Amino acid sequence: HQNRQPGMETDMHPRPEYEGAYLAAGKLRGKVALITGGDSGIGRAVAVAYAKEGADIAIVYLNEHEDANKTRAEVEQEGRKCLLLPGDVGDEKFAQQAVKQTVDELGGLDILINNAGEQHPQQEIVNITTEQLERTFRTNIFSMFHFVKAAMPHLKQGSAIINTASVTAYKGNPTLIDYSATKGAIVSFTRALSMNIVGKKGIRVNAVAPGPVWTPLIPSTFDAEQVSKFGGNTPMQRPGQPEELAPAYVFLGSDDSSYISGQVIHVNGGDIVNG
Ligand code: NAD
Repeated sequence: HQNRQPGMETDMHPRPEYEGAYLAAGKLRGKVALITGGDSGIGRAVAVAYAKEGADIAIVYLNEHEDANKTRAEVEQEGRKCLLLPGDVGDEKFAQQAVKQTVDELGGLDILINNAGEQHPQQEIVNITTEQLERTFRTNIFSMFHFVKAAMPHLKQGSAIINTASVTAYKGNPTLIDYSATKGAIVSFTRALSMNIVGKKGIRVNAVAPGPVWTPLIPSTFDAEQVSKFGGNTPMQRPGQPEELAPAYVFLGSDDSSYISGQVIHVNGGDIVNG
């Protein structure tokens, strides 16, 4: 994340018309949501939409930086509380602490959004080091086990868990082999966990599988040519904006999806994927 570009617009990708005409209806009034990777990109848009819907927010993110404060300011502007929890999602002890602090300071936990993720492009599989492999799996999927385990004692009937998967779980990405594998694991994890807890505890578990979304992750991990083509292969022929992802998370976190669990919602510019 050394080359983060928080503004997100580039000459190649002027922000498409999206006025953030999000109509809040109080669907998450009184709820507390913990969002990993809620400082930036998709997580930030979800945090702001959740705040508009009436939820207090805890944000877990990797490093102290401006984005987290910016997100907090946006949440507070909606009149909601925002707790900032810097730390590594791959660290189980930190996950336990982060959940405890959320419950202590915000009064409970109703919705867990496992959204933090990282990627390291590589051209050939022989160049993927074991160190990188372990890191990607630790951040993208081990973290979900840590946070779900920490959250379980606090989640109750009607609570929701939402995991951020990816279109790469279904189609693969030839330069993101380890990343694609973690995202496939997230889909299986979502299904198995739902079957494990939805009947017994009434906690719903679903995933969102984004296609190409224009966030700071993209210019920080891809070269100029990849960036210029980013999103061009989707039926809509453009990348999505983070605000176009948020409504799916609101739906899956609210009672509007009370009979939906173990599913994946694809928010990907119209790509048809199997599975
Ligand atoms: P982003 O870089 O804007 O946000 C991700 C955030 O995750 C970072 O800001 C960071 O704070 C957090 N994070 C990363 N590693 C962490 C760690 N070890 N501990 C704590 N926090 C950590 O990227 P984004 O595009 O908004 O990505 C959000 C999720 O969406 C990721 O899971 C990503 O894989 C997924 N996704 C993104 C796209 C896309 O095109 N942008 C497509 C499919 C899926």
